[in-house]
Amino acid sequence: MDYRDGFVDTIGNTPLIKLKKASEITGCTILGKAEFLNPGGSVKDRAALAIIQDAEQKGLIRKGGLIVEGTAGNTGIGLALVGNARGYKTLIVIPETQSQEKKDMLRLAGAELREVPALPYKDPGNYVRASETIAEELKDTNPNGVIWANQFDNVANRQGHYRTTGPEIWRQTDGKVDGFICAVGTGGTLAGISMFLKDQNKNVKIGLADPEGAALYSYFKTGELKASGSSITEGIGQGRITKNIEGTPVDFPCQIPDAEALPIVFDLLKEEGLCLGGSSGINVAGAIRLARELGPGHTIVTVLCDFGTRYQSKLFNPAFLVGKGLPTPGWL
Ligand code: PMP
Repeated sequence: MDYRDGFVDTIGNTPLIKLKKASEITGCTILGKAEFLNPGGSVKDRAALAIIQDAEQKGLIRKGGLIVEGTAGNTGIGLALVGNARGYKTLIVIPETQSQEKKDMLRLAGAELREVPALPYKDPGNYVRASETIAEELKDTNPNGVIWANQFDNVANRQGHYRTTGPEIWRQTDGKVDGFICAVGTGGTLAGISMFLKDQNKNVKIGLADPEGAALYSYFKTGELKASGSSITEGIGQGRITKNIEGTPVDFPCQIPDAEALPIVFDLLKEEGLCLGGSSGINVAGAIRLARELGPGHTIVTVLCDFGTRYQSKLFNPAFLVGKGLPTPGWL
């Protein structure tokens, strides 16, 4: 019999999908790591599991314990579902600007949801800072443990990618990967994968695909954290050097406007049958730029982070897109 032993065992070992148009227009082989096929629907299932396993190994939480986290949604969904499978409760703090679909899924998964205004990190009301405060306030209320997952600065996150996603990509490409690129939310995905790939072959080119409004492009280009513009993409766009980002070996930083990423998301759905969220569009746009930088004949890997249905009310809503002055395909 061939089966996976429950939710947790179904996380990871996702396929690499060849992206037809991106490969054709660049003369490269552009491969998307299909993280949207994780059982919780996103790449963040891996971070959620890695963080929970780390807390279990350190004896910080037992069955019946509580996991508190600030998240744009996907990490919370992963934590809530792994939590259900393992017997933990979850309390999730989310900026109110995040998509209704993610909030609905979090409630469905049984998380207690606290919506807060979208405030910068330096404000104590910021969703990440608020989640830390709540975890601290609740720490003595549960005999089975209360943990703050702290996905941004808890390096169990990037270690999970170093241990699983990186080796999967290396194995799936027979070690022939020439470049890897993706966007950053916490930095766990980019750091864990790039550190693993560089340890196998230091010549693998690592790219950062930053959305507008994020500060990492300028940081890796000039050493200075500076942001301008904005993006409708969710779950990515970082303004500080998190512990997960620290030491990430970035060779090719680039900044991708929404107007470049969204037509890719629409084409991937309409022409290749892949229904993906906005960060996947930023990633594939970045992979195309890295392919052009390296020239034809190379193999570039990126990440297809989550399902587009998570953003139907925004990314695939003509009224929303027109209101933002963004490209809107006629068929939508
Ligand atoms: N895309 C989406 C849709 C996400 O939710 C996230 C995580 N916030 C990312 C990309 C970025 O992943 P990471 O946190 O590992 O940088």
